[in-house]
Amino acid sequence: GKGLAVLTSGGDSQGMNAAVRAVVRMGIYLGCKVYFIREGYQGMVDGGDNIQDANWASVSSIIHRGGTVIGSARCADFRKREGRLKAAYNLVNRGITNLVVIGGDGSLTGANLFRLEWSSLLDELAQNGKITPEQKQKYGVLHIAGMVGSIDNDFCGTDMTIGTDSALHRIIEAIDAIVSTAYSHQRTFIMEVMGRHCGYLPVVTGVISEADYVFCPESPPPYDWPEKLCNNYLAVVTALTSEADYVFIPEDPVPNDWQISLCEKLAQERSAGQRLNIIIVAEGAIDRDGKPITAEDVKKVVVEKLQQDTRITVLGHVQRGGNPSAFDRVLGCRMGAEAVLALMEATPDSVPCVVSLDGNQAIRVPLMECVERTKAVAQAMAEKNWELAVKLRGTS
Ligand code: ADP
Repeated sequence: GKGLAVLTSGGDSQGMNAAVRAVVRMGIYLGCKVYFIREGYQGMVDGGDNIQDANWASVSSIIHRGGTVIGSARCADFRKREGRLKAAYNLVNRGITNLVVIGGDGSLTGANLFRLEWSSLLDELAQNGKITPEQKQKYGVLHIAGMVGSIDNDFCGTDMTIGTDSALHRIIEAIDAIVSTAYSHQRTFIMEVMGRHCGYLPVVTGVISEADYVFCPESPPPYDWPEKLCNNYLAVVTALTSEADYVFIPEDPVPNDWQISLCEKLAQERSAGQRLNIIIVAEGAIDRDGKPITAEDVKKVVVEKLQQDTRITVLGHVQRGGNPSAFDRVLGCRMGAEAVLALMEATPDSVPCVVSLDGNQAIRVPLMECVERTKAVAQAMAEKNWELAVKLRGTS
């Protein structure tokens, strides 16, 4: 059968194991010889025990586990041709010409480069006598398929990335816990959530936790944010106008007074009898000059201006951990199966795809198109073109 390998690369996320399991079992079902590649691209470059036979039973009892059981890594070697040459040798040697990469946009960019270079890598291996001319002929085309595993939902081209839903579960559990203590002591809590360059986690968290304010990277507050801060409703408006597929948003969460100042809003909430305030700060929150706004910065404002008892909670890696949600398990299963089908139907001329969620359908989208769109958001943010950043982020 055809040689098929699966690897996970970049940051881990809950649901990657469901995807790995689906790839392995669909591959076996379709008659492939299936391999795990451990530790991401590093395992592909290093070869040896990092590339292992996978069978039906070897993916039993992993669907409920967070992270990735086959390991993930960042790999400097794979960024160089020399590293990719070693990787190509390790694949050809085992007859692997189908590769499923589960990772972020960096990992998928690397996979695409590898595929484009493949025949020249094989030429070089043949010239050096590392592989035979028959091998070069037989394994002349590398097919790749991608899936995006990321808790940030930071990839343009899919409604949801694998792991985002589970991360939201972790966040909301933590906030629910915080809220009960904040209520008791009339405190303000500032919660830092992940989302280095992507506002999805903070915005959705804001909606489902009744937060008072959200700071998210694509839509920084005005310069005078300490006085005239955009509150969560701006973020929610952003969410509503940019991401038609948000399923978490209540029907009509958008009042007209979204320009109200932070301190005014907090003070007003308290005097109206609210016993706590929650402010969500993305780890990548920035001002309009691109300068970071940290949880500490926000705390300083609230304490100095309102003298509110204010605490910070940084959720950190808890968000990546724990069991995947039902949604992420199903998402991983469906995407994994679809990725293998895409590989089996691929021809030498076909464009490599990333498997995406569109509404309720697992669909195939040209990989580089999605990567380019994701890069365009980063570019717009780097150029401080916030309107464009929000617009591009929204066109999934
Ligand atoms: P993510 O996949 O989550 O975006 P990274 O950007 O760190 O994470 O990429 C993960 C790995 O993918 C890198 O460590 C590197 O091995 C590989 N990679 C990323 N970008 C490239 C590239 N342009 N060329 C080759 N390999 C790349």
